[in-house]
Amino acid sequence: MKRIGIAGAGLMGRMLGFACLNAGFHVTLIDRDPINSKASCGFAGAGLLAPWCEAEKYDQAHFEMACASLNLWPDWVRSIGIPIFFQQTGSVFVSHQQDWPELERITQALAQKLGSRWVPQWRTGSSWQALEPECAKKFDRALYFPEEGQVEAWDLMPALAKILNEKATWIAKRPILAIAPGLIYTERKSFKFDHVVDCRGLGAAPDLPHLRGVRGELVALHAPEVRLNRPLRLAHPRFPLYIAPRPDHIFLVGASQLESESMAPIALRSALELLSAAYSIHPGFAESHIVNSSVHCRPAFADNRPKIFSQPGLTRINGLYRHGFLLSPLLAQETVRILNGQGMMFPELLIKEECCEGNEPGKMYPNLPVSNPSPT
Ligand SMILES: Cc1cc2nc3c(=O)[nH]c(=O)nc-3n(C[C@H](O)[C@H](O)[C@H](O)COP(=O)(O)OP(=O)(O)OC[C@H]3O[C@@H](n4cnc5c(N)ncnc54)[C@H](O)[C@@H]3O)c2cc1C
Repeated sequence: MKRIGIAGAGLMGRMLGFACLNAGFHVTLIDRDPINSKASCGFAGAGLLAPWCEAEKYDQAHFEMACASLNLWPDWVRSIGIPIFFQQTGSVFVSHQQDWPELERITQALAQKLGSRWVPQWRTGSSWQALEPECAKKFDRALYFPEEGQVEAWDLMPALAKILNEKATWIAKRPILAIAPGLIYTERKSFKFDHVVDCRGLGAAPDLPHLRGVRGELVALHAPEVRLNRPLRLAHPRFPLYIAPRPDHIFLVGASQLESESMAPIALRSALELLSAAYSIHPGFAESHIVNSSVHCRPAFADNRPKIFSQPGLTRINGLYRHGFLLSPLLAQETVRILNGQGMMFPELLIKEECCEGNEPGKMYPNLPVSNPSPT
């Protein structure tokens, strides 16, 4: 049984851990936080699975990866076997009449980027009313993306933790000092594996100098008077936003995107912009209650594309940016292929070189006792 050590048990670490269990590996996850902590970026995510709506932000190759990963989601949800809110009923893009040029601009940008891979589907009249009757009162038309989906982070993350806590070894509350091929160095001792996979998100920044954090803010509203069946995006030149419906009339309104690594609570300006834009979409939000606001920094490289760095004994997955939920099934599947010595489906993801710059943990921590987590 190959022993895989996963550094970081956030979104990517959990998704990979689950894929590695299914592939028959012995899995150990090590994280600085307690198992039930909600501190990782994965808990801040809205869980939108939106290759088309997000396509403006990336290139054709990234789009193909995003679509391939979206196709993996239904099987993932089934194989997890614990109830998770997941729907693939599409999403819609709307704009206020004065902002129609912005929606036209987005449509043209997508058409140019995706070529024959995309035919715009406008919904007006009764076909639009049938999708979102309450929004059809306010907006005359919508651009519809029928294949897009949504997964509930607050269901998914605990469900994966439960499975991994039962079937893998989860070493919690253990800050990682450094990693090296086959080794994870923590405060008290180091752990030896056949292969280490670094899924520390922004926590890996000391080893990945080009990694940056992109701050995002979300507000969760309880709005009993609002009925929305699927994620809705507002095309606006200054305040673009999405509203993701969750069960029990909870709506996530997000998400700002700021070039900052500040984890300070949501800014007044962002809250005002997000909430006024939400109210402009549906007057029922006026009577809603703010149940939560979350702030986190998305790990991103300069080109905003995810990357897998691999060398014997050590693989790093990072730069999931705005698309961690969308892309993690594919990234996990590709990493399992690397661990099995198989060819990748998307080799352009792979960077085959050492990305640690001058970091020699073996010399820095020569006296740490080494242990081999044994198969359970
Ligand atoms: C507001 C917001 C909305 C988003 N919405 C969406 C969305 O709708 N759809 C989508 O696809 N994506 C979305 N994302 C993006 C998604 O959440 C991220 O891409 C994803 O969470 C990154 O996963 P990760 O595993 O790389 O990092 P994380 O989830 O942050 O996990 C990193 C883990 O490593 C651990 N760690 C770090 N350093 C150390 C250390 N030294 N020692 C031990 N442990 C360590 C941390 O404790 C953490 O558990 C959103 C992000 C934000 C902020």
